[in-house]
Amino acid sequence: MMTNQTLANRDLSVLWHPCTQMKDHENFPIIPIKKGQGVWLEDFDGNRYLDAISSWWVNLFGHANPAINAALKDQLDTLEHVIFAGFSHEAGIQLAEKLVEITPSGLNRCFYADNGSAAVEVALKMSFHYWRNLGQTQKTKFITLENSYHGETLGALAVGNVALYKETYAPLLMDVITVPGPDCYHRELGETWVDYSTRRFAIMEQTLQQHADTVCAVIVEPLVQCAGNMRMYDPVYLKLLRSACDKYNVHLIADEIAVGFGRTGTLFACEQADITPDFMCLSKGLTGGYLPLSAVLTTDKVYSAFYDDYQKLTAFLHSHSYSGNALACRAGLATINIFQQHSIIEQNQGLAATMTKVGARFNEHPHVSEVRQTGMILAIEMVKNKQTREPFPWQERRGLKVYQYALSKGVLLRPLGNVIYFMPPYVISEDELLLLAEIAWQGIQHATQQ
Ligand SMILES: *Cc1c(COP(=O)(O)O)cnc(C)c1O
Repeated sequence: MMTNQTLANRDLSVLWHPCTQMKDHENFPIIPIKKGQGVWLEDFDGNRYLDAISSWWVNLFGHANPAINAALKDQLDTLEHVIFAGFSHEAGIQLAEKLVEITPSGLNRCFYADNGSAAVEVALKMSFHYWRNLGQTQKTKFITLENSYHGETLGALAVGNVALYKETYAPLLMDVITVPGPDCYHRELGETWVDYSTRRFAIMEQTLQQHADTVCAVIVEPLVQCAGNMRMYDPVYLKLLRSACDKYNVHLIADEIAVGFGRTGTLFACEQADITPDFMCLSKGLTGGYLPLSAVLTTDKVYSAFYDDYQKLTAFLHSHSYSGNALACRAGLATINIFQQHSIIEQNQGLAATMTKVGARFNEHPHVSEVRQTGMILAIEMVKNKQTREPFPWQERRGLKVYQYALSKGVLLRPLGNVIYFMPPYVISEDELLLLAEIAWQGIQHATQQ
């Protein structure tokens, strides 16, 4: 019979897991999951876990979602995959049409890759190549924000700024221009998000003014720097950034891989600033958490700079074997259909309000410096000293204690350092949100005792 123990033993003898010091598993077990249903996961010993982090921010409408399952079963019997160069398929075409329809106006072209990091690589290469096709070969650099995260392949890692992932590989990475960001955790007492985000934009403006000649694009995560401990800022920053990019002739790349598909309360975060970026990267929620797929949306202007006779050698020759995978595209279509048929964005307003309500009590906790929220993301910053905001030393791994405690109570939370966050699938109920908050509270109590 298969149990957690037997599977964990087999796992640990052959597997190497992502984002993991494997030695940690000498002290706590890896958890083999047998099945999922809605917001719940079940392991091989019959324990259940509330998936409060949407399985790394990908799941939107629950595990084993009936509508997505049905679409995939149909697709499976029709076409699983076909080369996407020279050939096409209905799911890929329909999904591109939908994405062009639902993303900010002006994004009329869709290029597929197969994961988030790859989408970022595509956007960086397209931007550089656009300027090159225009004869502007001096444009080779990218501007990024402090505390940003754009994935972990070498190009994506280079434009990110989370030291934990980046420092080791620094000798391998291209140089980028890193600008202090708008992260509102650092605002002065009494200062509003708008004021702080506006004030911080001055540094970006100066940088653009100084370096625009050699810069291809600015890349940002709109509104929430998710992997950077769920730090948040005001849409005004994006508005200012859009007009500055226009002024200085630099592209704007919006990495909506984590925040897209309703996470920030609107379908796409850029909507809150009423802007259209030159490139928008999508993945994670794109397939409802089912299959790896990513898309880069861009403008006719960018597209036409590549469109010429073959001999001009201006084509964008980037490819992945699984580009435009038919099953993944079909999952994407089914996901967007759910948004459109069930007014998810409106419904989520109620859920977000409940999240605000259940999150409020954490403000009173003696080891919580801030509770912040943008739409369907709520983050709780755990600190050693509430007054000075002195953090717990990272070596103490307080977040890990919350993780382990919550697991023992049937909730999957996966804190980022000392930040506990809720980023649940949109099918979570109010009762489940209450449960989640109660376990998170107990977990923080447990983790902050001496
Ligand atoms: C997760 C993430 C990526 C990378 O996506 P992968 O599919 O994990 O490679 C890039 N950017 C942001 C903002 C992300 O959250």
